Amino acid sequence: MMLTIAVSKGRIYEDSLPLLKAAGIVPLDDPKTSRKLILRTTHDKVRLVIIRATDVPTFVEYGAADLGIAGKDVLLEHGAEGLYEPLDLGIARCRMMTAGYVDAPPLGRRIRVATKYVKTAKRYFASLGIQAEIIKLYGAMELAPLVGLADCIVDLVETGNTLKANGLEPKELICEISSRLVVNKASMKINHHIIQPLIDQFETTLKR
Ligand code: AMP
Repeated sequence: MMLTIAVSKGRIYEDSLPLLKAAGIVPLDDPKTSRKLILRTTHDKVRLVIIRATDVPTFVEYGAADLGIAGKDVLLEHGAEGLYEPLDLGIARCRMMTAGYVDAPPLGRRIRVATKYVKTAKRYFASLGIQAEIIKLYGAMELAPLVGLADCIVDLVETGNTLKANGLEPKELICEISSRLVVNKASMKINHHIIQPLIDQFETTLKR
């Protein structure tokens, strides 16, 4: 029996390494220099797949990966079907926020919002009773207000520097974001004897 853990590539992967290491999981190849998509590890029952953040919940939902590490932003967009979310790993912390021009007048009841996070934005503005037309972008959301594409954006904010450099500022907090451990529900039942000790080990490491 081999467990597969899907990890979001880039920063979340880098920040997950110490946690994985504490559970005896050290990748045998470096994804920066290797083109291998499946990484064997020092744990003979665990392998890693390093994939795009938005693909992690899909792999775990379908059981192609037993566990996954992904940002709450991605999980909110994907939906929680078929997934347990047993642990907040506390890494890659940031905030999902609305943002717009510094000193912009308050938003009206009908607005245009540019974002990568369509579902989250829809849900948020609906909860405020604001009619928002959501425009899906795949990057450079900050550009949208500057060129008149949207009244505001919904994006992740860490230091706020990206917004500031473009004359924008964070406005309303939608939710706090961090990376979570997710587990395929069926796999959790079938492989409980391997997965539960892993979760316990991660939890112990996080408490240290
Ligand atoms: P900052 O300038 O520090 O506020 O960072 C904002 C930029 O980094 C935005 O383009 C965000 O999409 C991205 N960002 C910040 N934190 C995270 C995170 N935890 N995960 C993914 N992207 C992030």
